[in-house]
Amino acid sequence: MKRLFVLLSLAGVLACSAKIEASLADEKDAAENKEGMERPKKVVKTNAEWAKILPRESFLVTRMKATEPPGTGRYASYHGKGIFACICCGTELFDSRAKFESGTGWPSFNRPIDPRRIATEQDFSDPNEVRTEVMCAVCDAHLGHVFNDGPAPTGLRFCLNSASLKLIKPPAEIKAKTAPKAKVGAAKSKARTN
Ligand SMILES: [Zn+2]
Repeated sequence: MKRLFVLLSLAGVLACSAKIEASLADEKDAAENKEGMERPKKVVKTNAEWAKILPRESFLVTRMKATEPPGTGRYASYHGKGIFACICCGTELFDSRAKFESGTGWPSFNRPIDPRRIATEQDFSDPNEVRTEVMCAVCDAHLGHVFNDGPAPTGLRFCLNSASLKLIKPPAEIKAKTAPKAKVGAAKSKARTN
């Protein structure tokens, strides 16, 4: 009986994981039908080559599938604007507009910029749970996992490692940080014209 329960539980999580992959495949098909969107070319390097160009933590996460401890990553509590690119190959993967506070201690998004820029695979490394691994489709970097308990409209939660990402801030955001006085001045002058 216990064995049957284990088998049923396993079937349940496998179905769940397969459902996530099917919904991502649908999004990829939809993106495929849009004009002017090209599938990016693969970037291939050996682990020795990646080790030379990446910070050690990023190498361990992206190429060795390590997980950074929750709450330690530089983007976990970042809620400014920007584009999150793959730290390995620079492909723009996630937009800050899709980022939300999941309370997990890892940066979380409910959708990628283009579903074709990410790849997914079933991950059996945790004996308690079959998870769906998320990778960069261009260079196969391990980014994290995707779960189906995220917010609308996708219901997905891409739970990523900060070490696998590189934030590209929009020019306005960088200006606001480096020249706060200029920003205040601009706001005042705008208020005067209204
Ligand atoms: Zn990449």
